Amino acid sequence: MRKTCKPVIVVHGGAGTWDSARSQAALKSVKEAAETGFNTMHTGGTAVDAVVEAVALMEDSGNFNAGCGSALNVEKRVEMEASVMDGATLQAGAVGLLSDVRNPVRLARVVMEKTDHVFVVGKGAEELAQIFGLERREAVTAAQLERYEAQLKSLLAGSGYLPRLADLVKAHPEVFQLETVGAVALDNSGNVAAATSTGGFPLKLAGRIGDSPSIGCGTYADNRSGACSASGVGEVAIRLVLAKTVCDYIGQGESPQKAVEAAVALIKERIPNVYNVMGLIAVDVNGRIGAAHSTANLCWAYMTAALEEPVALLKAKFVE
Ligand code: ASP
Repeated sequence: MRKTCKPVIVVHGGAGTWDSARSQAALKSVKEAAETGFNTMHTGGTAVDAVVEAVALMEDSGNFNAGCGSALNVEKRVEMEASVMDGATLQAGAVGLLSDVRNPVRLARVVMEKTDHVFVVGKGAEELAQIFGLERREAVTAAQLERYEAQLKSLLAGSGYLPRLADLVKAHPEVFQLETVGAVALDNSGNVAAATSTGGFPLKLAGRIGDSPSIGCGTYADNRSGACSASGVGEVAIRLVLAKTVCDYIGQGESPQKAVEAAVALIKERIPNVYNVMGLIAVDVNGRIGAAHSTANLCWAYMTAALEEPVALLKAKFVE
């Protein structure tokens, strides 16, 4: 007999430092994303439908480092990436190096459902977007260019060399906001899913792929444990296979809250003395949720059947 669950969704608009000028719009967007994802499941959609719709809404909002708000790389170009994973089947899809696909998360779903592959990047991925009729958008907007100029100015004022980027982001966190978006959900049938989408680290090298599209690192979902989405320094999440690590902790009996806290603490223990900030959200197959971060803020929201409307916050559990 199929299990009947009450749907739960948790979304994030990234770990970082949210000042009051920008946080209101971001909080509104994560709330809308949680509501959209929850309603998708409430009306019969799956956890995969929910996380894709929630992430697509945040990609379109322009309030985050994803979709039309994506940070530019060092060559002043957009290279977006995204992934989605279905905890029921362990199927996953991921895309990278996209310049003008409106919703990278929808293309990740195409890879998962319409191809034999998990990860497709660049020209080949954009050809898939063409074949499946996905919308395109302007590659670089005026708002993205403005942000790039501010980031570059800050970088050059500090040293002029990219190896110093870590020191600069410590000194100027307000400029180098991470703001990747993600969602995790549990649906009526007891299936979990996760999705993550990003423009990547601001001023990254061209061709750099981060954790967000890397299955197990920025995104993971497994019906035997739960689902997790990350935002933070991608290289750190990759080295610790962080989203899978969170799901493993849940599988070993930890609550999602303890699991995300333990994973952030693990970073401090195993990869110290580098720029290593992180934010994590998770849900387990029993509908319990977790959120933790080592940044000043995590912009996030959640919605459950017990709530009238989503709860949106700028902080979760801060892990020293
Ligand atoms: N994790 C992303 C990356 O390193 C950045 C972010 O979370 O905003 O590409």
